[in-house]
Amino acid sequence: MNGFKFCVLGSGSSGNASVLQSGMKWVMLDCGFSIKQTKERLKRAGLALADVQDIVLTHVDRDHFNPVWCRTIQNQGINVHLHRLHVPRAMSLGLQSENIVAFDGAFTLHGCTVEPVHVAHDELGTFGYVFDSGDERLGFATDLGHVPEHLLSSFSNLDIVAFESNYDPMMQETSGRPQFLKERIMGGGGHLSNAQSLCAVQTIASQSTLSHVVLLHLSRQCNAPRHIHSLYEEHASALRPLLTISHQDHPTPMMQAGKSVNMVQEVLF
Ligand SMILES: [Zn+2]
Repeated sequence: MNGFKFCVLGSGSSGNASVLQSGMKWVMLDCGFSIKQTKERLKRAGLALADVQDIVLTHVDRDHFNPVWCRTIQNQGINVHLHRLHVPRAMSLGLQSENIVAFDGAFTLHGCTVEPVHVAHDELGTFGYVFDSGDERLGFATDLGHVPEHLLSSFSNLDIVAFESNYDPMMQETSGRPQFLKERIMGGGGHLSNAQSLCAVQTIASQSTLSHVVLLHLSRQCNAPRHIHSLYEEHASALRPLLTISHQDHPTPMMQAGKSVNMVQEVLF
């Protein structure tokens, strides 16, 4: 089997989408951008919309499932894989039943085992995933209220981990956001701080042989890559060469398990 190839097309509260080559097929993880934006970003990654026949959803908030996709999904006969908990809401947003492949536990996709991991986020929660090709394993988790033990047990023996690193607590506290929003984000059912994310990544790294650590869903208002770089420099300098920080506005380089990316990953600001 070919090695995993993985690219985050963009990540943040204005939209999320990533692509993973599983076997010889491309799978999209979340579809939170417009069709036009997605096509442009796929093109930059050397792909076209027609290359994607499957979408796996973490949850159906608008930044992960943009309802403008419903028509394209129907027209192109794309299979949308989502947990049965999220089916009623996805259908209420316009997703047709013939395009839904609901799961309740692990499932197989193009020769890859996909293990969903349920984590807290707002009312219905969200799903992290471990994609296991038999040779390689990729873990993907975003929009976590906190990091539960069962997620850390599943995220072992990974080659690539993509993990949320949403906010810097000081920037969050001084952001001028209303208190209820700060509490929603930081209260264990919203998003992960940089330190919470790093702590989980360190545990995952200790039980894996990682070639890439990819950070997802940085808050535009309450985070900056320089905070993440200094945190890693201070507490996990061995992981810094593996680090790719995703961006809201442009795709990451295409990553491959076992191979490093020899280029500047993001602009420091
Ligand atoms: Zn989100």
